[in-house]
Parts: sequence; structure tokens; C-alpha cells
Amino acid sequence: MNEQLNDHRRLGRELAIFDTDPLVGSGLPYWLPAGAAIRKAVEDYVHELERRNGYQHVNSPVLGKRELYERSGHWAHYAEDMFPPMRVGGEEFVLRPSLCPHHALIYRSRPRSHRDLPFRVAELGGMYRSELSGVLGGLTRVRAIQLNDGHVFCAPEDAAAEASAALDLIEAAHAQLGIGAARYRLSLRGDGAKFVDDPAMWARSEAILRDVLRERGRVYDEERGEGAFYGPKIDVQITDPAGRESTLSTVQVDLYQPERFDLGYAGGRRPVMVHRSVVGGLERLVAHLIEVHGGAFPAWLAPVQAVVLPLSDAELPAGREVLRRCVAAGLRAELAAPGRGSLGARIRAHRLVPYQLVVGPREAVSGAFSVRLRGGEQAGEVAVEELARRSRPVF
Ligand SMILES: [Zn+2]
Repeated sequence: MNEQLNDHRRLGRELAIFDTDPLVGSGLPYWLPAGAAIRKAVEDYVHELERRNGYQHVNSPVLGKRELYERSGHWAHYAEDMFPPMRVGGEEFVLRPSLCPHHALIYRSRPRSHRDLPFRVAELGGMYRSELSGVLGGLTRVRAIQLNDGHVFCAPEDAAAEASAALDLIEAAHAQLGIGAARYRLSLRGDGAKFVDDPAMWARSEAILRDVLRERGRVYDEERGEGAFYGPKIDVQITDPAGRESTLSTVQVDLYQPERFDLGYAGGRRPVMVHRSVVGGLERLVAHLIEVHGGAFPAWLAPVQAVVLPLSDAELPAGREVLRRCVAAGLRAELAAPGRGSLGARIRAHRLVPYQLVVGPREAVSGAFSVRLRGGEQAGEVAVEELARRSRPVF
């Protein structure tokens, strides 16, 4: 019962995080200001985490020619999940089902030597899935996904270390986001046309990921038929309040697309492509964050980090000044004016806001204020700059 209370679809609407409109279409939610603030906080955090770990960021278009996906193998193995092509002039364009082919072309756009590797690229970009409307709902089953994606092009002998480093990033990000994995899954090839038919290639790439998991001492389950069409994956699984499991973060070893795109370095050697997503698609991540935190997000993620509460109209000018200082220090802050009810009522209305700054007659004179925490504890007098520091993620 309690778990259903945290359903992200209900809380998401209540907290004005996202919504949908039949005129846009099902599976195509839009982000309201509170949701956009959470999303931007995640984007900035992941961008910085990747930058500190040797990634370079790129941007690429959300569509490509049909021939691109014929080359990548998506057309043969993944077409039923893709939107049908759009015809423009004599050409056909497809909304991309993944970012990998664009990144393979970015690798290929310059000659690469041994010194250029590992080449780590990351992008937060759109990808699309032609889900049927019957299965769509909230932020977890959508047709447009903003994916935190990245690819490491490396020498074959470095693939295990790069995959393991990607797991380090995933674990660091999960700790910062306050979430935990339900389990680790090693997703392998299954039977049928969904998977590239090359047993020797699969044996090599599966061995790499198995070694990574063994070396990290991770408990994991192996599941056949859950791999990508081009290679095996380590999937970090999460569960929603109803117990439904899905994949959030993933690390994959791919020996197929480097071959398909004829990627090379140092005179004919073939790099390995390690695909990884640190936090997965932002839609699914934010759905999970809503459910895990019940709307009481860690300060760095909270849509509003500080609320200024002048005791009475007499302290309103001082309250406006405190608000100005908060905003200038980088905090997402707002003012709850006395006209909006008693102090108790205003505190209740902002009970999810991490920092509540009460400005009374004494504070109005001194320019200081005492901070009340979300749980009701008094944190005493804290400088605005210190509050801003506490509202940033830690690397
Ligand atoms: Zn990829």
C-alpha cells in the first residue's frame, strides 16, 4: 500500500514534475519547471563526472539516413523497435534508435593512432522507440528518451579495464543520487535473428565482461537472450514500487560495430567499442528518483533548494534581499510571502524543500537568518554561500 503511494505518475503530477497531453501523444511526456530543474541538475552532474574521468562531449543529430542503420546492423536486428523511415526528396531518414552509430562515425572522422586511445566520447542525446501506445505510461515507458550515453574506443587489451572504470562511474553516480541497484545482470546472446550470428565473437566479448564482474567480486545473474544484438551487457537493474524490474545503467562490450564501420587505429588494428550509460535514460532515472525519495530529493537535486519565509509583511523587504542573495549564490530559491498563510502553513506547503530560511524582526535587522531543515531540525545560522556549497553534488 505504502509503496503505491510513491508511484511516480501520481507524485510526478502532484509535484508538477512532468505531464502529458493527448495532442502531443502518449509516451511523449514534457517536463514542467520542477522536472526540468531536476533534469538539468542530473545533466550537469553527469557531464562533470564524465569530464573528470577523461570523456570528451559531442553532439549529434537525432536522425540519420536509413543506410546508417543498415550499416550498424540496427536495420536487420532492431527494426521492429524503430520508427518507420521518413522520405525527404530521394532519401529516407530514421529517428535514431541509439547513439552508437553516430559516435562510431565521429571516431572514424579522424585518423587515430595508438596514442589517441582510449577515445572516450559522451553525449546526452535523444533516441526514439516505436513502443505501442498500450504499454506506455508515465516516464518509464516512453517513445522519446534522453539518454546519457557514451562510448569508449580502446585497444582490445584495455577493454576490461575500461568496462570496469565505467562500473566505477555508475557506482559513484548511484551513491550521489541516493539509489541502489536491485541486482547486476550479465545479459547474454539468445537464439534467433535478434542477435548477430557469430559465436566466436560472442565468446570473446562475453569473456571480457565475466572477468570484469569476477574481478570486482560482484554477485550477478547470467541471463541468455537479454544482450544487445551486437554484444553482451552488464545491466544494473532497479525495481519500481510495484516490484517491476528494469535496466537503468549498462556497460556493453561490442566487437561488431567496429567491424561494420571499419574502425581502425595504428595501421590496421581494430578498436573495441565499450558502450556505457552511467544513469540511463533521464525519463526512467527521474521516475526512479521520485519513487525512491518520495519527492524529498537530496538538496543538489531538489527543484527548489531554499525557501525564504518572512515572518510578516514587515520582513518582506529583508526576505526579498535574502532571496536575491540565494539566487546570486546559485541556489534554486523562492519566497513564500506572508500573504500565503501562517508560517506553519507555509512551512507545510514547502515541506519537501531542503532549506527553509525564516526571516523575523531580528534577522531583518542583522541580515542573517536561521535555517530550518526539511525534517524540522534547526541548523542555526548558516551563510548563503555555505548553503549553496551544501547544495552541490560531491565528486
Ligand atoms: Zn552504444
